[in-house]
Amino acid sequence: EPTTFAVRVAPLGTHGQVLVLAEDQTERRRVEAVRRDFVANVSHELKTPVGALSLLAETIQDAADDPEAVTRFAGRMQHEAARLTNVVQDLITLSRIQGGEPVAHPGRVQVDEIVHEAMDRCNTKAAAKDITLVTGGAQGLSLMGDEELLVTALRNLIDNAVAYSPEHTRVVVSARTIGAHVEISVSDQGIGIPESAQQRIFERFYRVDAARSRETGGTGLGLAIVKHVAVAHGGEVTVWSKEGSGSTFTLRLPAADAAAAAASQNSTAS
Ligand code: ADP
Repeated sequence: EPTTFAVRVAPLGTHGQVLVLAEDQTERRRVEAVRRDFVANVSHELKTPVGALSLLAETIQDAADDPEAVTRFAGRMQHEAARLTNVVQDLITLSRIQGGEPVAHPGRVQVDEIVHEAMDRCNTKAAAKDITLVTGGAQGLSLMGDEELLVTALRNLIDNAVAYSPEHTRVVVSARTIGAHVEISVSDQGIGIPESAQQRIFERFYRVDAARSRETGGTGLGLAIVKHVAVAHGGEVTVWSKEGSGSTFTLRLPAADAAAAAASQNSTAS
């Protein structure tokens, strides 16, 4: 990528002096290119399922007297509708949390409920690749937070785990308490993430390999959303990964009782 300058020349005074302003445009052009890519990706992510849905609706009309085919096509319609819902949900979530404010009205959230809700939203995608979703440890754990935001974050982690794994593998979603925190991990047996990229994947729009990502779909927003949601809850998200053997993403969030204790301490302090 060559460096580009915008140069402006203005006359200065009466002795023929001029003022020369040279502004480095490289970063601005890079940001513009990233945004153009993003708009193209989002348009593609919205148009693909809509196109598939209208095609499937047509097909189902022609197959009206074949109940087996109807069931199969209806299943695929469900899959496409879920995909559409996820992209729209991501865009809404991003606009909600971009400001970086803490969660507005946190409530008590059962960890096993959000884990199951997030897994449900990835079921058809996992089934299509014969990927088994396994869960454990979430029973009885609770958090203070925004249920919809937490489900969106978890769904993005599971969605990625499925997208970047080969067929017939396992994705494990597990939860546990460590001190005053609840940790929810999503582990896959997928392609992994090169060490040099591991810090950048949480940036908005960043994708490890544009060509590879285009095949799997996606907008480059998922992990930025996960990070925003974690931070808005007073937590964090970390990654462990090895190329060729898999990745584990861990959401670390304050447990409900710890969060309640901190809140009451704050209110007595002020
Ligand atoms: P995308 O829409 O591209 O999936 P994300 O923000 O969710 O956007 O992820 C950013 C990039 O991080 C992806 O493009 C992919 O290269 C990489 N990535 C995310 N999760 C995984 C995973 N579980 N395994 C391998 N690579 C991953």
